Amino acid sequence: MDQYWDSIRQKVCRKCIDGDSKGGCRLPIDESCGLDKFFPDIVRTVSSVRSDSFQDYVDALRANICTNCEHQFADGVCKKRDTLDCALDRYLPVIIDVIESVKMSSVGSEHGPS
Ligand code: SF4
Ligand code: SF4
Repeated sequence: MDQYWDSIRQKVCRKCIDGDSKGGCRLPIDESCGLDKFFPDIVRTVSSVRSDSFQDYVDALRANICTNCEHQFADGVCKKRDTLDCALDRYLPVIIDVIESVKMSSVGSEHGPS
């Protein structure tokens, strides 16, 4: 999981509007980042999707992550999502790409020449 988070910090947190451009997070102490908070479940969810459709990833994350998040209402509305205040939603294409890339490289190294 560390390998996944290291890549996220390099590719997402460094460019995040709430980051310090060095991979650190500058969110106030009383605010949490959905990406950070649910990260292991996000990795598991993204890894379980076998599809070329971006929407299939979105649907899986909404079903597995957002339904467990305090910011989503029972009707499926999330104010943070609507106002682009959730880093998970804001950077979703990059996040999916990072997770799939790390997964591929770890699979490749498991089956590569020894
Ligand atoms: S808000 Fe989330 S994505 Fe942005 S820098 Fe902080 S931990 Fe990273
Ligand atoms: S989009 Fe909303 S419900 Fe989903 S993780 Fe982000 S804040 Fe939570």
